Amino acid sequence: MRAMRLLKWKSDPEIVEVDTPRPGPGQVVIKVGGAGACHSDLHLLHDFDESSPLAWGPPFTLGHENAGWVHELGEGVSGLEVGQAVAVYGPWGCGTCDRCQLGMETYCENIAGAPVPGGGGGLGLDGGMAEFMLVPQARQLLPLPEGLDPVRAAPLTDAGLTPYHAVRRSWAKLAPGSTAVVIGVGGLGHVGVQILKATTATRVIAVDNRDEALQLAEECGADQMVRSGPEAAKQIRQATGGHGADVVLDFVGVDATLALGAAATRSMGDLTIVGIGGGTLPLSFFSVPYEVSIQTTYWGSRPELAEVLNLGARGLVRPKISTFPLAEGPAVYERMHKGGLQGRAVIVP
Ligand code: NAD
Ligand code: ZN
Ligand code: ZN
Repeated sequence: MRAMRLLKWKSDPEIVEVDTPRPGPGQVVIKVGGAGACHSDLHLLHDFDESSPLAWGPPFTLGHENAGWVHELGEGVSGLEVGQAVAVYGPWGCGTCDRCQLGMETYCENIAGAPVPGGGGGLGLDGGMAEFMLVPQARQLLPLPEGLDPVRAAPLTDAGLTPYHAVRRSWAKLAPGSTAVVIGVGGLGHVGVQILKATTATRVIAVDNRDEALQLAEECGADQMVRSGPEAAKQIRQATGGHGADVVLDFVGVDATLALGAAATRSMGDLTIVGIGGGTLPLSFFSVPYEVSIQTTYWGSRPELAEVLNLGARGLVRPKISTFPLAEGPAVYERMHKGGLQGRAVIVP
């Protein structure tokens, strides 16, 4: 079969011929219906190498945002049927440590027992930018609820799940009268706006440096659009009676957006860093308003993915997608690099 692979650090992805995977005991092979192209893959292509804090590396097939149909069941797998539509829960842990028992396989504490330490399919192991994908533990497959097909479901597994996890942990601060700021309205950010709208009564201010992105934010229900730049923090403070935003979600993570987050968050608010832009935020007693909680979040939990799929099936969260064949995969990443995509690009192998 054909697969789009990262063969070595600091290189472009290549489409090559590889063996079609067969499932071992407890494993499942899916026929890939859709594999979302995430900006994290761009970081994998351009920013990481042997010195990076990742416990895995190339070669592997890209694509960590996947859904499809059960193709072949390994020995001992029950509860799934060939042809059934499924989404892949992407972070693959050991399944039995304290964190994994809660479905938080992102933070597996027994990495020696995981298929790949701190990664998953498309992140160290072969992902979904291929005709077929091996899922090494059947529990990582969630049946798609009625109303959701694999192409629409794929982006929900990361561009949906990641902002959902970040928003959900701040729900208590998103009461009516509150304001949330979404910085970076790309694949993750535009779904983040929809999730805020679907699950809270907060007012949403969207920030981006591209007109198409701010347009998409408006379509997704954002209440106010702000262009990133030196005036952005002032505009957010003005829009919040001088107080700042109760929750700021940074889906970029460069120096400028982290500084904007620190300047625009309300005292006792949450500043959540999701983007892996490589920026730093100097932290000292007076560098952020009092009692601001600053956190990074990585992906989300398996139970949360079930909730996101529910929101997707009911039409409450609908990622804006454009689809591309596998052969156009490398060009999709080039376009993403240049800021030429709106919403999420999904590879349909
Ligand atoms: P994307 O390319 O689809 O979207 C990024 C958006 O940010 C674009 O709309 C772009 O115009 C905007 N942007 C860029 N610089 C900006 C700036 N200075 N100010 C305001 N807006 C700016 O990317 P994506 O797939 O949504 O991913 C976003 C980030 O999140 C990436 O860094 C990615 O690696 C990271 N990510 C993190 C996790 C996690 O678990 N923490 C999961 C997935 C992706
Ligand atoms: Zn991702
Ligand atoms: Zn574990």
